[in-house]
Amino acid sequence: MRYSGFKVIREALHGHRGWGPAWRDAAPASDYDYVIIGGGGHGLATAYYLAKEFGESRIAVLEKGWIGGGNVGRNTTIIRSNYERDGNEPFYEFSLKLWEGLEQELNYNAMVSQRGILNLIHSDAQRDAFVRRGNAMRLHGADAELMSTEQILAKYPFLNVDNARFPIKGGLAQHRGGTVRHDAVAWGYARAADARGVDIIQNCEVTGFRMENGRCTGVETTRGTIGAKKVAACVAGSSSRLMEKAGMRLPIESHVLQAFVSEGLKPVLPGVITFGAGHFYCSQSDKGGLVFGGDIDGYNSYAQRGNLPVVEDVCEGGMAIFPMLGRARLLRMWGGVVDMSMDGSPIIDRTHIDGLYFNGGWCYGGFKATPASGFAYAHLLATDRPHEIATAYRFDRFQKGLMIDEKGMGNQPNLH
Ligand SMILES: Cc1cc2nc3c(=O)[nH]c(=O)nc-3n(C[C@H](O)[C@H](O)[C@H](O)COP(=O)(O)OP(=O)(O)OC[C@H]3O[C@@H](n4cnc5c(N)ncnc54)[C@H](O)[C@@H]3O)c2cc1C
Repeated sequence: MRYSGFKVIREALHGHRGWGPAWRDAAPASDYDYVIIGGGGHGLATAYYLAKEFGESRIAVLEKGWIGGGNVGRNTTIIRSNYERDGNEPFYEFSLKLWEGLEQELNYNAMVSQRGILNLIHSDAQRDAFVRRGNAMRLHGADAELMSTEQILAKYPFLNVDNARFPIKGGLAQHRGGTVRHDAVAWGYARAADARGVDIIQNCEVTGFRMENGRCTGVETTRGTIGAKKVAACVAGSSSRLMEKAGMRLPIESHVLQAFVSEGLKPVLPGVITFGAGHFYCSQSDKGGLVFGGDIDGYNSYAQRGNLPVVEDVCEGGMAIFPMLGRARLLRMWGGVVDMSMDGSPIIDRTHIDGLYFNGGWCYGGFKATPASGFAYAHLLATDRPHEIATAYRFDRFQKGLMIDEKGMGNQPNLH
C-alpha cells in the first residue's frame, strides 16, 4: 500500500478501516542467505539496501525485543555531517544526502527537518579549531558557515552571549543539519524492507553462533536455530555481549547516555544548538518539548537508565548558554546503552571468522549515520569488500595505530 495525502483523506472519510499492518509478523524460516542480528535503525537499513541495491531476497532481521525499542527510538534525533577527519566526513556527508531523499525513497514520513545545527564557540582557540573543521567540511562538499555573535543573536536572541565564564564568540553552522523523527526511521525502513521480502522477526534473541569448521553458518535463537550463509551483527549497545558468544573481545565499552524532554513550549528554538565548552545540545520537537542531552554517565553499564549527577551536569551546561531553560519543567528522561569505541569512530568490517560480519562502535552519534551505515554494511555483506565511504572503519586500525580520533582527545570513551 502506498502512503499519500490522498490516502490519508480517503481513510479519514472511511473511518480509517483501510490501513493494513506496515510489515508482516514473520515466523523464522530454517535458513536464509543473510541473517542480520538487531532490528535497530542500522540493521533494518542494512536489510533494506541489501534487497534494494543488491537484489537479495532471502534476508532475515532478528530482533530480541521490538522494532524501535533500542537506541534508534531513544536518541535525540540530530542529524549532521559536521565532521573533520578524512575517514569520517565523506561517510557522514553521504549519509546526510541519503537523509535528504529518504522520505520519498521509503514512501514514509520520517519528519526530516533540515532546521540547521549551530556549534557555539567560546574561545579564540576554539574558533581556530572550528574554522579548520568548517574548511574540511567544505572540501568534502558539505556546507559550513562561520557565524558572528550578532548573526547568532538574530536567530537565537535568548542566548547568554556575555556569560563571564563561557562567553559566546560565534559559532559554526551547518544549515543542512537538523532532526528526524527517530522511531519513524525504524518503521520506515522496516516497512520498505518488508515490502522487498525481508523477514522481520521480533521477540527473537540471538543466544549463540553456529560454527562449522571455523565458519559461522547460523545462529542459535530463542526461537530455534537459524542457518545463514552470512551473519551480520548490528546490535549497537549490546555489541560486546553478542560478540563474546563468538569468542571475540571488542575495542568497545558500553555506557549509558541519557536524554531529556521538557514540557511543551511555544516555538522558541528554531534549530539545534550545542554548547562548545561542555556537553549540552538542544532542539525543540514539533510537539514543543525541548529535547536535550549531554555526556555519557561515564561507567560501564547495560542498564537503560541513568543517574542524577549527569542530570545536574547537563542542566548546568544548558543554563550556562540558555538560562531560560531553568523555567521549563522536565517532562521525561530516559537512557540508552551506547557502544563507545576507543577512538570514537565506528567499525563496519568482516571479522576473523568466515561468514561473520560486524557493525558497531557508533558511540552517541550513530543515528545520523543510519542510512550510510546500512548502505555500506549491505555493500560489505554482498560483495565482501568495504564500500568506498567506509574503508577506514576497520578492526585493524586499532592494531595499526590508524585511529580516527575525531576530536584528537585520546583513547578513552568519555573523551569523545
Ligand atoms: C540518549 C541517546 C541520544 C542519542 N542522540 C543521538 C543523536 O542526536 N544523533 C545521533 O546521530 N545519534 C544519537 N544517539 C546514538 C544512536 O541512537 C545510536 O548510535 C544508533 O541508534 C545505534 O544504531 P541502531 O539504531 O541500530 O541501534 P539500536 O536501535 O539500539 O538497535 C540494536 C538492536 O539490537 C537488538 N539486540 C541486541 N542484542 C540482541 C540479540 N542478542 N539478538 C537480537 N537482537 C538484539 C536490540 O534490542 C536493539 O533493538 C543517541 C543515543 C542515545 C542512547
